[in-house]
Amino acid sequence: MSQAALVKKPEEILKQFFGYSEFRGNQQAIIDSVLKKKDTIVLMPTGGGKSVCYQVPAMIFEGLTLVISPLISLMKDQVDALNANGIPAAFLNSSQSQSEQRFISSQIESGKIKLLYIAPERLYKGDYPLIDFLKTVNLSLVAIDEAHCVSQWGHDFRPEYLKIGELRKSFPQIPFVALTATADKLTRKDIADKLGLKAPQWFISSFDRSNITYRVTAKRDAMGKLLEFLDFHKKDSGVIYCLSRKNVEETAAELQARGLSALPYHAGLPREEREKNQELFIKDEVKIMVATIAFGMGIDKSNVRFVVHMNMPQNVEGYYQETGRAGRDGLPSDALLFYSGQDAITLGRMLDQGENQEFTHVMQDKLEKMKSFCQTKVCRRKFLLNYFGENHAGDCGNCDICFQKGNRQDMTIPSQMLLSTVARLGENYGIGYVILVLRGSKSAKVQEAHQSLSVYGIGKDRSESFWKDLGDKLLQEDYLAEAGAQFPTLKLTEFAWQKLKAKEKILLPMEESISDVSSKPSTHHEDLLDELKALRYSIAQKSGVPPYVVFADNSLLE
Ligand code: ADP
Ligand code: MG
Repeated sequence: MSQAALVKKPEEILKQFFGYSEFRGNQQAIIDSVLKKKDTIVLMPTGGGKSVCYQVPAMIFEGLTLVISPLISLMKDQVDALNANGIPAAFLNSSQSQSEQRFISSQIESGKIKLLYIAPERLYKGDYPLIDFLKTVNLSLVAIDEAHCVSQWGHDFRPEYLKIGELRKSFPQIPFVALTATADKLTRKDIADKLGLKAPQWFISSFDRSNITYRVTAKRDAMGKLLEFLDFHKKDSGVIYCLSRKNVEETAAELQARGLSALPYHAGLPREEREKNQELFIKDEVKIMVATIAFGMGIDKSNVRFVVHMNMPQNVEGYYQETGRAGRDGLPSDALLFYSGQDAITLGRMLDQGENQEFTHVMQDKLEKMKSFCQTKVCRRKFLLNYFGENHAGDCGNCDICFQKGNRQDMTIPSQMLLSTVARLGENYGIGYVILVLRGSKSAKVQEAHQSLSVYGIGKDRSESFWKDLGDKLLQEDYLAEAGAQFPTLKLTEFAWQKLKAKEKILLPMEESISDVSSKPSTHHEDLLDELKALRYSIAQKSGVPPYVVFADNSLLE
């Protein structure tokens, strides 16, 4: 039989080795570009199916495909999965013995391996660096997974990735394909430059993850809100991201103490413990992973139902990547972020310590955008897609902002009370003290200092939590701003002064519980889907937004 007759078509490979009958999105076009030996850049959201874009060509090209990926810990799983599908793949890393490595090299030399996975540091390290070995074999394709790691504008810069530029020069004749789930415009351009790609073909998929419901809520009483949210997500798998290792440990311990199935994950834990915790999570033996952002990259777990951020992430790319780990199976999933001005200040300070000025400047800009996302009054999905250079026609109907639209209440009187108390106190106090004055606290200290103010006690008919909620809403809606780091004090914004002067009505979104989708947690997934469906219809009707199909698989709807 001639060689040509043996070469299979992409669809046949997809069917035979992956069991799928059709390509999804622009997989087919991407594969065509790679097969034409063009340098190719793929931007596709997490779960979109980037892997087959190089795995299918790997099975068609005659020689070896090199896959560069940042995480050694995941290579084994990826390779095992490929082998289980009958694809001859292997990885090389420092955890293997000399003889294992020699065996794999000999397999490559004899053309028995189609895909070789490595971390980039492997290329130029040691007495006999891999690059020298690669020059002796028939290399057909290089795939660079998580390609944003090559750019310092990305959220996960790895200097070793810069070495890939040298690799490109050593193999000018073969195609390189770079893939990532996240890259704003600046990072995109940088990827092409740093990797030294030649007039690359770009494939940018829609980044919309329509099955994810985005919510941002004030951080006050975060644990209480979190428990309420987790109660709704009983039995579901999810990830809770915290900024520091300490927060991870504390949050995990608190959840465990309440009988929830949660484990910590951060880079400070011993490797065995980390790997064990990750494995338990992937196998559904533990439901909640409380983690730093060290957790999650490349993890292919399709049934993650929620992602919570206890702290604001540093930038929108990171946020989108992390929330994108929810709902890879296309079923409705939740992303919840706890926002506080304080966190934004802390992150800003961390950035200020950086030495590279240009870098710090760009990162600060990104942090500002992340803050705007938290404070935005436009549909969150619109905001996110717009950030990645995409348009979303109309509001999504599936984020907290959309849920609240049309649900605004006239809060003029209490808002005036709160705002004037802030002003009368000389904008020198935080919300706690403002409420003490509003409610006419009997504390000797408060009485002595502020009993004579006209606003003292004007809000005594309402509860402390009412005033706190109102304060949060006024912050979110830009009537109030926080100043100062450790003990933030409240200030009236220019916007608030204008509104007050013009005697305009103050309409605020009704407080919406984060578990609004259901008060009673459901045990069966089917019930849950029904409830969500009903609720989203009712929300849509209330807010005048047309019912929005949130399921990737429409058959679930009708
Ligand atoms: P990404 O790397 O973009 O996050 P993966 O390559 O891990 O995504 O693919 C996500 C999931 O989608 C995997 O379970 C994969 O098997 C599946 N998948 C990929 N392509 C197809 C397809 N054409 N049809 C159905 N499922 C697919
Ligand atoms: Mg991937």
